[in-house]
Amino acid sequence: MSPRAASKGAAPGSLRIGVDVGGTKIEAIAIDADGREQARRRIASPSHDYREIVDAVRAIVADLETECGQMARVGIGTPGAVSPASGLIKNANSTQLNGRPFVADLALALGREVRVANDANCFALSEATDGAGAGHRLVFGVILGTGCGGGIVDHGRVRVGPNAIAGEWGHNEMPSRTEPRLPDRSCYCGRRRCIETYLSGPGLAADHAHAVPAAAAPLDARSIAALAEGGDLQARATLSRYCNRLASALALVVNVLDPDIIVLGGGLSNIDALYPEVGALLARHVFSDRCTTPVVRHRHGDSSGVRGAAWLWPAR
Ligand SMILES: [Zn+2]
Repeated sequence: MSPRAASKGAAPGSLRIGVDVGGTKIEAIAIDADGREQARRRIASPSHDYREIVDAVRAIVADLETECGQMARVGIGTPGAVSPASGLIKNANSTQLNGRPFVADLALALGREVRVANDANCFALSEATDGAGAGHRLVFGVILGTGCGGGIVDHGRVRVGPNAIAGEWGHNEMPSRTEPRLPDRSCYCGRRRCIETYLSGPGLAADHAHAVPAAAAPLDARSIAALAEGGDLQARATLSRYCNRLASALALVVNVLDPDIIVLGGGLSNIDALYPEVGALLARHVFSDRCTTPVVRHRHGDSSGVRGAAWLWPAR
């Protein structure tokens, strides 16, 4: 989440490499100073071994640099965050990273300074730099996927905070003012009714299964969205509840931060029906006589993680 850095002398040129270290894959991109893609790689993530992850990142960077014929500045997106207190990774769902000095080990392996940030922050940075949030001063980026993350970019820089938790709204409690009978949910974090348990893909699927128990098999978020688009009333009702909850949860952010734009990413952000509805509902939940905050779809999609990691080294 930082960017935290550790250094060991190097002289990279204008090439930037962003690496997204996920639980199932490691993806990397090389871009020039204008954000144009020069090369890209994607490999399966070594599943359990921490040293193998560090070695895989070193190899993928070397491979891209060979193809591009120059040394690069390297940014890394990871799940979790770098603890400001210890420099160790915390909160990662790829648990083999937790408690490890990932930044220092990568700097050693790559022989240069590296910057490491949380993957939701990388998404927000990518969209703020040259994506759907470009030109806006304060961008709140949201990932609605298997989890529910968020990141804040202010004037082109990721806001990290003393606890490295800025933007992480997914484990606040879902507001229930407009929905007094909100179903109860337990979260893996040990809390109840976390926003993530309603707004993630599994959260949407669980909500539909709860409302339509007679369904032959539980449906995933994509199938529910397709059914709703085809006119299925129960799926439409599920999406309606989802939109109201999303607007109500985003209103918390607007009331505190009042961002200039909210950019949605992750698999659920591809549901077209969200945009008009959430934009309209937001005004009802925000403490203001009007709310004009745009809620928009990402521009870079699945590439935002790697692009944002690369932009941890700003062009300007
Ligand atoms: Zn939670």
